[in-house]
Amino acid sequence: MKSIKMLSYINRCWVFLIPALLILAAFRPAPQVSAIDGYSTQGAASAYAPLIPEHTPIKFVRTVFHIMQRDDGSGNFPDDSASRQWLTYLYHNHSSDAMGDLRPMNLPTASPYIRDSRIRFQLEGIYFHQDDYGWNMAHDSHQMGEKLYKKYVLDDPGTVYPQSAIHIFIGGQGSSHGRASGIASGKWILVSSVYKKYLQGNHWIPAGLLRHELGHSLGLIHTWNAPDRCDDTPLNAGCWNVNEPAKPECATPSNNVMDYNACQCALTACQMGRMHQALMGKFGKVDNVLVTDFCRRVDPLLTINSGDSVVWVADRYLKSDLRIEPGATLVVQGAIGMPRSSRIVVRPGGRLIVENGRLFQPCGGQWKGIKLVKGKRQGKRVMGSLEITGKGKVEHTR
Ligand SMILES: [Zn+2]
Repeated sequence: MKSIKMLSYINRCWVFLIPALLILAAFRPAPQVSAIDGYSTQGAASAYAPLIPEHTPIKFVRTVFHIMQRDDGSGNFPDDSASRQWLTYLYHNHSSDAMGDLRPMNLPTASPYIRDSRIRFQLEGIYFHQDDYGWNMAHDSHQMGEKLYKKYVLDDPGTVYPQSAIHIFIGGQGSSHGRASGIASGKWILVSSVYKKYLQGNHWIPAGLLRHELGHSLGLIHTWNAPDRCDDTPLNAGCWNVNEPAKPECATPSNNVMDYNACQCALTACQMGRMHQALMGKFGKVDNVLVTDFCRRVDPLLTINSGDSVVWVADRYLKSDLRIEPGATLVVQGAIGMPRSSRIVVRPGGRLIVENGRLFQPCGGQWKGIKLVKGKRQGKRVMGSLEITGKGKVEHTR
């Protein structure tokens, strides 16, 4: 819990770091991370669902805002501290925080209730552009997204994280809707009506819409009207709210992020798993926006507790040391990235089984490997054990 609290604190405080981050970003080379795509044979989305929250370190998704004003600077948020505060805290961070505090599904589902998706958004910058064309999103299009992305991101050397953030263009004109560059696509999003809602004192509707569009970017499809590759998301009537519109099937509306409703505050295990898969490069082109904070140890020790027997089917990047307690068993079937200088300690009577899995350092460096501890357990001298089976591998450097 401590780590979550600390991370959300960091997330809330980032605004004070913007100038420093902008300067740092300009000079800091992006860490070279070797993708683990293609190694693991483990593919089911449900295997990636964060059922035990701390076993899936939080993934941060880089975002950048582009406020599209009219040519004369009117018609949208002005570039002042009040706008930046609202956009950061009430809009962006509210949207992100809800990813760690999801509601149970309103509609019947086979999914267990998982409160924390273990995915958050990290705002890296806010830009203001004067551009009548980009301001008017009343008739937005994919082509518009591509044009704005090229002009203000790819062709503008002053923009941070051109290839490693989702660039969110916030129009001034247009109804409350959005558009993403694709399913599992780490490029751009268009949203409008944010300023209108700001003037009305409403941050939760645009925050829900932002979550929805980022859901598309991270690999999710609408759930109400067509198959979405998740068996635990029921088709539904697409109601906005309870009895809105007034028809019998709207007595219980969906509250799923990927439907259009007033809450957009629930996700199923499969949906969460798909987002984690996409961010691990298992499908689509969105792993570029994952914050590479897993090269060093930044999280507190991760412990597999006595009596627990855990199988890690899914690939993951750990951000801490790992300890396997006496009487605990961890079976590794996926590829597990270990941070630099980290180690795995297997205490007496604990078991680590690398069963077709792989332990490695993903950032070009070393980790300290596996320490098997000797000791007494129930009157006998025992050791922590390591078994490597099948195609299992333990790599200390790369
Ligand atoms: Zn949508």
